[in-house]
This record gives sequence, structure tokens and C-alpha cells, in this order.
Amino acid sequence: MSTAILGAGLTGCTLARLLAEDGEEVVVLEAADTPGGLCRSFTADGFTFDTGGSHIIFSRDEEVLDWVRNVLGMNREERRRETKCLFKGLYVKYPFENGLQDLPPEDRFACLDGFVRASVEAELADARGDVAPPAHFLEWIRRTFGDGIADRYMVPYNEKIWKYPLERMSAHWVDGRVPRPPLSDVIRSACGLSTEGYLHQAVFSYPSCGGIEALIRAIASPVLDRVRCGFRVTGVRHRDGFFRVSDGCTEIQADRVISTIPLPCLVDALDDVPEEVADAAGALVSNAVACVFIGLKRAVPSYSWVYLPSPDLGFPNRISFPSNYAHAMAPEGCGSILAECTYRTGDPVDSLDDGELAQTVIEQLAAAGVLRSDDVVYVGVSRNPWAYVVYDLDYCRSIRIVREHVEARGIDLVGRFAEFEYLNMDGCIRHAFDYVRGRRACA
Ligand SMILES: Cc1cc2nc3c(=O)[nH]c(=O)nc-3n(C[C@H](O)[C@H](O)[C@H](O)COP(=O)(O)OP(=O)(O)OC[C@H]3O[C@@H](n4cnc5c(N)ncnc54)[C@H](O)[C@@H]3O)c2cc1C
Repeated sequence: MSTAILGAGLTGCTLARLLAEDGEEVVVLEAADTPGGLCRSFTADGFTFDTGGSHIIFSRDEEVLDWVRNVLGMNREERRRETKCLFKGLYVKYPFENGLQDLPPEDRFACLDGFVRASVEAELADARGDVAPPAHFLEWIRRTFGDGIADRYMVPYNEKIWKYPLERMSAHWVDGRVPRPPLSDVIRSACGLSTEGYLHQAVFSYPSCGGIEALIRAIASPVLDRVRCGFRVTGVRHRDGFFRVSDGCTEIQADRVISTIPLPCLVDALDDVPEEVADAAGALVSNAVACVFIGLKRAVPSYSWVYLPSPDLGFPNRISFPSNYAHAMAPEGCGSILAECTYRTGDPVDSLDDGELAQTVIEQLAAAGVLRSDDVVYVGVSRNPWAYVVYDLDYCRSIRIVREHVEARGIDLVGRFAEFEYLNMDGCIRHAFDYVRGRRACA
């Protein structure tokens, strides 16, 4: 039985390793020159950056975490999260609702007041038995956090990262992904008592050397000879009992195909796709992320990463400090910043060329007091067209139509943009585990 895996990101490499361990014949077809997808890294002038945005290793899934720890072996460091939200020039503890003690009194009051009112309203609705699900993500935010936290943090931050109207986003995906604090924690934080939220991420791991790509290299090392880079899949057909996967020049024959490439790209590669399916694939919404890499000749504050909700702070929705993730990430005495700016076609981040974007972001961060322009010794930019799945209100209908069609053609979908789901690295590995186990059970 031969299997062609489309895409050599984290999901494709994990699947290849697991299937090869079961003795399967696999080939991984990857468009780029190197494996890794969103989990690629590079080193320049002594600074190492993750090209797909800052990546840390964390999970509630102990089996996945153990596997990752084993794969990385000694090449791993642990850090305690020190994350902030930059609000009115103040570094407020993250999650924002656990950091109310850091706010000016009038903002602290508005946040607490709104949160308590929203909680009481939710209790009353529950008691009346009339809890209709929120109609959209904006309603979920206001119902869950109240207007104070919504107006100051949740709404501007989410508008900035999704680049999509929140009232046109669904709320079905938020549980487990957006932290929901207990009322007592919010009251404690408003009273100045320390509380931690989003606990499974409070301590995270990161490779000691090589950035997050070190994880990909470690996973892929037993199967590197099965990864064929520079192969952009443009055709997937089923003929005479075999799949034939083509890049326009070469055709690979396989008994099975597992796709980890973005679902709309897979649909483009199929023949005879009904109009309804093509339309549904075209209706799936996602955004892109531009990463600006900044090397500084001096150390940075001890933060892990900082959210920048306000539009006044410029393009970045988040900045991280990779030099705080592992010692080898920057030359001795130097620090680094990775600014993530999500965007969509035609918006200001898209319209600027890379040099202009880097210059603008450095000026914006200097204006926010995050860095001094004359400390900058390295600048780089990468653009990732597939960054975040956006769950718009048509999502559930569109994804059902596309998945049903692709699966009926015998093609399996695993991974973030293949399934078109908000999966972090642990979710991709978990889905690869479950997929391979399901296959074993059927064998
Ligand atoms: C800004 C940002 C920050 C993140 N931070 C974290 C974090 O801190 N922790 C965490 O756990 N997760 C994080 N994630 C999520 C994580 O990046 C993903 O879950 C994971 O990398 C997805 O892996 P994948 O293999 O499914 O997809 P991808 O990485 O997208 O891989 C798909 C592969 O398919 C290839 N491909 C595409 N089209 C074709 C084609 N036609 N033919 C052949 N190959 C093709 C691509 O080149 C790519 O290599 C973050 C994501 C983003 C965007």
C-alpha cells in the first residue's frame, strides 16, 4: 500500500513518520524548498526567527506533549509565560481579565462592572432557561466578558487579528480557544490579587537551538528521504484504481492520498469539481500574516509576547521576544522582536513592499516605546498567505459541502488548512495520531 501525503508541514511530516513506523510506503510532496510549512525558522546575523510567526509548544494533551518532548530530546527549554497586553502605555498582565489590577482605576471599574453584569445576566438567562446561543462572535464576546473588557481589549484585539467584522464571524469555535475566566478570578484581579488564566500555557517549551523548525527536523529525520520538495501539487486524479498526483511535469502514483495542503488548493487540483463545491471552497475565509523580524543590539524586556489591541499602535497585533525563548536565539547581549501583522488582499499591510512594511513597523514600535530605532541591527520580513482560518457565518455550510465532496473521492484531510480548522501544533499532531490509529484499526 503506497500513500502520497500532500504537504510537508508539521502534519505531513508527523503522518509520514507514523505511517513509516507502521511499515507503510510513503512519499511526501511539498511545494517549498524545505519542509516545515508554518513551522520554519531561519538564522541571520546570529538571530533565529520563526518565519510563520512566533511558535511555542504547549498543550492540554499530555500524550502529544510527551511525544514532542521525546522527539526533541535534549534540544528543549522550558519557560514560564510572561505575557502582556499593551493598553494606554501600560503592560497589562495576560489574559487581560486576569490583569485588571494593572489598569487605571476608571478602566478597572468599567471592566469589573461589565463583567459582573454579564455574569449576572448569564445566570438569570440560565435560570429562565432561555439561553439561545450567541448569534455571532461579537455577541459572544459581549455576553462573556461584558462591555468594559470587550471595548478595551477583546473587540479591538479580535478586529485586529481576524481582519473580519466580528458580527459576521460565528461563535461556535471559541470554547477552549479563547480563555473564559471564572468570576472570582476577575474580582480577585480587580482587587490586586494575583491570578493566572489559560493555565495549560503558563509554562511552555521551545527548542534550545534552531527555532521551531528544530521540531520539524526532529520529526522528519527518520523519513527525510521520503520528502520530495519543490513539488507543487497541481493535479490529483483517480484513474484505473490509482491516484495520480502531478505537479504539471511529473506524475506520482499512489494507492492513497492524504492532503495536508490548504483545502481550496486541493479543490483547485481536482478535476470535474461541481460548481457548488468550487463555490463553497472559494467561500472559505482565511487571512495572511506578515512577520517583521527585528534584531536589536541590546537586551529586550523579559516578556514572552505582548498583544497590541489598539489600532493606534500600528499594524502588529502581537509582538514576541524570541530571544527570551532560548539562549541561542540571539547573539550575546542582543535581543529580538518578531512582529506579526495579519492582513488580507488589498489592505495597507498587503499594499506595502517588504522594506516599507519593516520600516513602518519599526517606526510604530518606536512610537509605542517598545524599541529605539537606532538599536536595530537586523531587519527581515516573511509573508505567509495561509495564517488563520476565519470562521465566518457561512463556514459550517461551506466546509460541509467541500469535505463531503473530497472525502467521497477517497482523499483524506488532516491538518490546519486541510481540515480548515483552527488547529495549533498539538491539534495537528493529535489529528495525525488519531488518523493513523484509525487506519490501523481498519487494517
Ligand atoms: C502566526 C501564527 C502563530 C502560531 N503560533 C503557534 C504556537 O505558538 N503554538 C502552536 O502550537 N501553534 C501555533 N500556530 C499554529 C501552527 O503553525 C499550525 O498548527 C501548524 O504549523 C500547521 O501545520 P500543517 O502541516 O497542518 O500546515 P502548514 O504548516 O500550513 O503546512 C502545509 C504545507 O503544505 C505545503 N503546500 C501548500 N500548497 C501545496 C501544494 N499545492 N503542493 C504541495 N505542497 C503544498 C506548504 O508549503 C506547507 O509546507 C501558529 C500559527 C500562526 C499562523
